[in-house]
Amino acid sequence: MSGFHEGGCLCGDIRYRAHEPPLEAIVCHCKFCQRRTGAAFGVEVFFATDQLEFVGSPLKTYEYTSADHGRWLRLESCPRCATPVAVTVERRPGQRGLNGGTFDDPTWFTITRHIWASSKLPWVELPAAVPYRLFGST
Ligand SMILES: [Zn+2]
Ligand SMILES: [Zn+2]
Repeated sequence: MSGFHEGGCLCGDIRYRAHEPPLEAIVCHCKFCQRRTGAAFGVEVFFATDQLEFVGSPLKTYEYTSADHGRWLRLESCPRCATPVAVTVERRPGQRGLNGGTFDDPTWFTITRHIWASSKLPWVELPAAVPYRLFGST
């Protein structure tokens, strides 16, 4: 079945439609994701790029090269309200990750794994039913 899910940024200038099925939905506890989100972890729902449609303003991009592994990560945000909306990473060509909290209904996807559990914040508890890795990159 091929339904779709919509979402966007806080101010409404960026809207998207993501067609099912997602490739993977992960929670990442790495230091990079903590900083880029300003929160405890990143929630990334990955799709093939042709499953995604964006409307509205062009996204503002910021490219970051990791000092740890030397690969680039591209952060995409709303130029007006600064909501982080999407992420592309060199490691996953042809894919784009949507930041899970930007879906209008962020309850529809199921987290398939947690990664970088080695740097999770001490008050975050991992659910026993979901696989996790101590390290591992998006
Ligand atoms: Zn916005
Ligand atoms: Zn991460």
